Amino acid sequence: MSTHTITIIGGGASGTLLAVQLARQARAPFTVHLVEQHGPPGRGVAYGTLTPAHRLNVPANKMGAYPDQPGHFHEWLLQNGHTFAPDAFVPRQLYAEYLQAQLQAAMESGAIQIELVHDEAIDIEVEQVQATSQQDPSLRGAGLSAHEAIPNKALVILASGRRLASDAVVLAFGNFLPPQPSFLSPQAAAAPKYFGNPWQPDLAARIGPHDRVLMLGMGLTAVDTLLSLQAQPHSGPLFAISTHGWWPAAHELGHSYPDFSTELAGLTSLPAMLPVLRRHLRAAAAQGSNWRAVIDSLRPSTQALWQQLPLAEKRRFMRHLRRLWDVSRHRMPQECAAALDAMHASQLHSLQGRVTAIEMAGSEFSVSYRSRGQLHSLRVDAVINCMGSESNYSRLPSRLVQNLLTRQLIQPDALAQGLEAAPDGALGSRLYTLGTALKGVLWESTAMPEIRAQAHDLAALLLKSLS
Ligand SMILES: Cc1cc2nc3c(=O)[nH]c(=O)nc-3n(C[C@H](O)[C@H](O)[C@H](O)COP(=O)(O)OP(=O)(O)OC[C@H]3O[C@@H](n4cnc5c(N)ncnc54)[C@H](O)[C@@H]3O)c2cc1C
Repeated sequence: MSTHTITIIGGGASGTLLAVQLARQARAPFTVHLVEQHGPPGRGVAYGTLTPAHRLNVPANKMGAYPDQPGHFHEWLLQNGHTFAPDAFVPRQLYAEYLQAQLQAAMESGAIQIELVHDEAIDIEVEQVQATSQQDPSLRGAGLSAHEAIPNKALVILASGRRLASDAVVLAFGNFLPPQPSFLSPQAAAAPKYFGNPWQPDLAARIGPHDRVLMLGMGLTAVDTLLSLQAQPHSGPLFAISTHGWWPAAHELGHSYPDFSTELAGLTSLPAMLPVLRRHLRAAAAQGSNWRAVIDSLRPSTQALWQQLPLAEKRRFMRHLRRLWDVSRHRMPQECAAALDAMHASQLHSLQGRVTAIEMAGSEFSVSYRSRGQLHSLRVDAVINCMGSESNYSRLPSRLVQNLLTRQLIQPDALAQGLEAAPDGALGSRLYTLGTALKGVLWESTAMPEIRAQAHDLAALLLKSLS
């Protein structure tokens, strides 16, 4: 039996797809440990939702798990009795079932041994390992005989005390909870109706039907939260605030626009790129196409365009264009936009402004915010943090991340959007990553069309490193 072992930390979509790709591409048997601290694999933050109103924000026929088969998910839906149109925005929980089915098939193929480890990884040691399998029973799982020295393996240390000797370790830890805002008083942060985790499944059920609720942030997570409340149902007033006051744009399918990325290749500043983009936006409008199609036509080349920008230009993008990019690129299905419109007509108030303080006043939250130079205040019964996943790794409360930072095995990228890494995910010292952690390096790195390609390519890289 092969003694090779790969440990994947994180059993969300990224880690699960990587395990599947390792099985599909393996030429000889080896062991994969897929370590997930929470529920079953394939779910993670995005697909762990049990609310049917939470939909994928990518049409079904583009969500296939394999880069060469974008329609695979839609085919699976039909084979499993779900009659959705190819361009439907399907409930996200079905995507978890799909990924689990892919993993199950990979495990049953017997190409490699995939062990699902329900545990939290808390540290990694990458020094020369002196232990023998006799001293450390967990090492016997890697197929080592007694007293055999382990050449330069990485040891993944789990909260249970188990240690996984690994030839390579992949950090697939994905999305973290949103940062705790500095304007939140300690009392407000500890209040029962402050929700720092907008993805907790019972969130809507813990809010009274008449409560006044404030959402911090107006991205796709705030949209999800509103849909969860609507499903309860909820009749109290709802508020959402963000610095720009913009909701994500709604999808409008059926438009296309030709690839013009060669006109942007080699341009290394935003002032050089933007006139090209504006020209194509005008051309799309004139031709009866749509600005969305122009943005989408850039998707296959976004990573390359991002990498050709110098750091100062990336910073400039983050300061001036990021919000506009986010609401244009990360769009919501029309059904969700229609639901929001209906809520706006009755109970939803969208606010543009900057929150300056949230304090407790009895059992209520007293919220102060500044908008167009004026200070405003608001009283609500519940506050939900929908500010998006914390991307600054130095601030993350994860034990694993803090230990890896201390050991200098990882470091935040210069934009604090993820980790400093090679574009292929290599972090050095037998460590690799994929998905959200590569956002600073690749910019477009958080959604399935990119993650499935990364899982495919990283599996090939890992297999090469083992041979
Ligand atoms: C709410 C939401 C909706 C989204 N919807 C879409 C969509 O419709 N289409 C799309 O393409 N993309 C969507 N995305 C983007 C999403 O990031 C990816 O599609 C994908 O789900 C990311 O998966 P992941 O495995 O990288 O991260 P995650 O889903 O965050 O999974 C990471 C996993 O790692 C585990 N983990 C972390 N640290 C440890 C540790 N130390 N030990 C053990 N386990 C650990 C976590 O418990 C978690 O389960 C969405 C994202 C969010 C947040």
